[in-house]
Amino acid sequence: MAEANKPEIKKIAAAKTMRKLMADHFYELDRAAKDRYPKVAWCTSVGPAELLRAMGFLVYFPENHGAMLGATRMASETIPAANAIGYSPDICSYLTSDIGAFLQDRTPLSDAYKGITAIPKPDVLVYNTNQCREVLDWFSWYGTHWSKPVIGIECYRGVSEVTDVHVEGIAGQIEAMVPTLEDVSGEKFDIDRLREAVRLSRQCSNLWKEVLETAATTPSPLTFFDSTIHMAPAVVMRGTQLAIDYYNELIPELKTRIADKVAAVEGERLRLYWEGMPIWGRLRDLATLFLELRTCMVASTYANSWIFTALDGDDPFRSMARAYTELFIVRSDPCKEKYLEEMIDTFGVDGIVFHDSKTCPSNTNCRYGMAQRLQERLGIPSITIAGDLNDLRCYSDEQAKTQIEAFVEQLAGRVGAPS
Ligand code: SF4
Repeated sequence: MAEANKPEIKKIAAAKTMRKLMADHFYELDRAAKDRYPKVAWCTSVGPAELLRAMGFLVYFPENHGAMLGATRMASETIPAANAIGYSPDICSYLTSDIGAFLQDRTPLSDAYKGITAIPKPDVLVYNTNQCREVLDWFSWYGTHWSKPVIGIECYRGVSEVTDVHVEGIAGQIEAMVPTLEDVSGEKFDIDRLREAVRLSRQCSNLWKEVLETAATTPSPLTFFDSTIHMAPAVVMRGTQLAIDYYNELIPELKTRIADKVAAVEGERLRLYWEGMPIWGRLRDLATLFLELRTCMVASTYANSWIFTALDGDDPFRSMARAYTELFIVRSDPCKEKYLEEMIDTFGVDGIVFHDSKTCPSNTNCRYGMAQRLQERLGIPSITIAGDLNDLRCYSDEQAKTQIEAFVEQLAGRVGAPS
């Protein structure tokens, strides 16, 4: 396609507010780390952020930093530094790119936010192994480096039905963290503050769900690639009013798009589902490719992972435990397949793109026959793209492009979509 005729990614106006919010978030953390007040807690993406906020911590999410390293492609230069100290190129490239960046004394935050020269030093590091064990290794490296406590939750894996046994087990682990957090923060635990943080988190989750559900409309006002950007407040600000205010700005904009029949992908003719991690360093390329193919990536497991419908301010510990255990990533394959079936139905999906992410087996679901089972049972076709979240050595632009183009052509013939 000639450069002049290339379709443009449609901008979402609320993004301006989001950029400001993110800048404020990082400057606030930077100040706190320098002033040593408020205390800074590092937290995994589905760690107990609500409890940390209720105890007065500012919360920093290293996975968000990992995604920035990927999106800026700085990761390609920093991963080898972690490999050199014994962290294999085969393990989580968030971990390797983040530790590598630290060893090289670099951060994409410095390029994005003038005056910030380093990631915020933690006072405590809090993990939840619900997504993987790698987060524990990752946080432990920094905990050892700075002699700071590393505490967390050991999660159940392969969960079919979430039972009271699971909920009590995880709730007990969350409560058991309180004395250490009191010691570090110097603040007494207050159940009402926790209730409030959980309520705010639930509101944020509801609104984020509403954002994603706008993509069930045909044509969709939103793509998966948009959602990887606009999910940032749900990821790093859940449990605050700021995230709620942001989605209350974004949702009307998307609803106006729906009312005006403004498609995120002009001439949308096919609708796909993204299963697996984003390929951060190629988001724009992939978004443009699908735009050219008039194919909208309408939904994804990844963006849905910040929907926590179980959160309940009246029962904070147990509802956090339930929300963290209902997460897709810790469920059994039959549960995951049932969930995908619902997504296919809700979003009117024509096919699935599985991302086989080399260094993230936990967020890769195509290695044990799931794609074939879904094809047999639901007749839903799919492709598997080999790649990685951050390590672009595992991804071939040419191969992925050829695969995607062939898949879209095949789907278009199958559903009788216009060429
Ligand atoms: S889920 Fe995957 S990408 Fe995320 S921290 Fe674990 S291994 Fe890394």
